[in-house]
Amino acid sequence: MLMYSTCIFCNRSLDTNEAIEIFPVGRRIAFDGSKGRLWVICRRCERWNLSPLEIRWEVIEECERLFRETRLRVSTDNIGMAKLPEGLELVRLGRPLRGEFAAWRYGDQFGRRRRRSAMYTTAGVGALGIVVVGGAAVGISLGGGYWGYVQLVRWIANERIATRLRHPDSDEKIKVQLKHLEKSRLVPGETPGEWELHMKYARGCSSGFTGGDADTLVYRGDDATEIAGKLMARANRSGGSKKTIGQAVRRIESVGNPESFLTEAVRESERLRREKAGDNPKKLEKSTEGSLAKLPGDIRLAIEMAVHEEGERRAMEGELDILEAAWKNAEEIAAIADSLLVPTEVDEFVTAEKEREGAERKIIVPAGAGSSAPGEPAVAQRSDPPGEAPDRSGSDESE
Ligand SMILES: [Zn+2]
Repeated sequence: MLMYSTCIFCNRSLDTNEAIEIFPVGRRIAFDGSKGRLWVICRRCERWNLSPLEIRWEVIEECERLFRETRLRVSTDNIGMAKLPEGLELVRLGRPLRGEFAAWRYGDQFGRRRRRSAMYTTAGVGALGIVVVGGAAVGISLGGGYWGYVQLVRWIANERIATRLRHPDSDEKIKVQLKHLEKSRLVPGETPGEWELHMKYARGCSSGFTGGDADTLVYRGDDATEIAGKLMARANRSGGSKKTIGQAVRRIESVGNPESFLTEAVRESERLRREKAGDNPKKLEKSTEGSLAKLPGDIRLAIEMAVHEEGERRAMEGELDILEAAWKNAEEIAAIADSLLVPTEVDEFVTAEKEREGAERKIIVPAGAGSSAPGEPAVAQRSDPPGEAPDRSGSDESE
């Protein structure tokens, strides 16, 4: 089998992968099923090495299959990236797959949380259990009876800390307790598409009881969604069943994307608040507008997914932008190389790229770029005018 193992631009090793048996080269592979292109991206110089034509279709098929199966993936309009557990990264070019929102990846996490939570509940141990034991003794000495005991447990539970933060202005240590979650609200900001988190908190960071009215902090924009995600993870501390996770995913998918789902969630929160209050205006006034902790489990899970997805997507979008620019460049060269018409141009490109790096190395024809033997200097051998290549590869559908 025709194979190459070093980068044609920097001559350094392209490394290997164990995920694709028929093509164990590279740690980052880019493929374009619509044009039949396959590259190994050098992780050292980030340049794109076009693969040999001979095995390309088989490998592209395998890449597509692995990409679909992979849980961790992000996509923009015409480029996507998946990270395989083995460490191989697949860059998929072309139209994104449907249902690209990779919510399934939360499945494991939520399921784990749920099992852990169930364990604590049945065994009656864990952090809460210990507090409750102490609380029970107090409850009995107070003579509260069973009802008093239940209230006490609830009260103690609500004093538990959801998260510790620093005040953005004073840098003072603050804590958000479970009781603050219900009163914290995520509401649309003044700028469309932006969110405001009105978060309740108490000063200090030690565990223990806090009385009086909680203070309120307002976060905006990215900070608001990031902190909301943290709080949501705490509100969802008992995870979710497969069914609930499934419902959460469907909720996001039915809206189309995580971002607009938040809008939907806030609307739903408001609808439920009004429904619960019924005709009682006092009840309505007492409840918190935009309280996310009061929502049904599947919506809460979906919010956590949506908020995390947002953050991760933003982080990876920068990388995808760079890849997209590199792809356009590589595609131009590939179109030429694959047509087998003008190897000189490929040669010129390689030379130019090498000069860019200031390296003096032997010029090697990119594999699959011409009919010269691997390692042999590229020579313009063809006199055929462009567009009339008689031996053009049948499987190549480039225009
Ligand atoms: Zn390289």
